[in-house]
Amino acid sequence: MAEGSVPAVWRRYPQRYRLVGSKCETCGEFFFPPRIICPNCRRKGKVVEYQFSGRGVVESYTVVHTPPADMEDQAPYVLAIVRLEEGPMLTAQIVDVDPREVKIGMPVRMVFRRISEDGEDGLINYGYKFAPL
Ligand SMILES: [Zn+2]
Repeated sequence: MAEGSVPAVWRRYPQRYRLVGSKCETCGEFFFPPRIICPNCRRKGKVVEYQFSGRGVVESYTVVHTPPADMEDQAPYVLAIVRLEEGPMLTAQIVDVDPREVKIGMPVRMVFRRISEDGEDGLINYGYKFAPL
């Protein structure tokens, strides 16, 4: 995608589409969402911004049949806890797969997708989801 075509809303919320967290260079632990202070090292920690690879595995999941109103058109869908290969866990929707085929331990990768569409002004929110690797 050309730089100029990135919607303004993406540029304003970089961690929603770049999967940026942080890393403590002192103890090697990764954080998502990013932390400024390492809970292990406190003031001795050197925490820097870190861009995750986007690869991980499904740690656990649930199939959502009755979603919030702005996601009605996507049900049923899979909401999973994904463990990134660097260690942190996050909650995300799993796409591009039949909900019945999702398994614990399944390798996944991050993809950019529409999250929801607000009814009134038609604003579409994008962010990260995960798809089978
Ligand atoms: Zn640390």
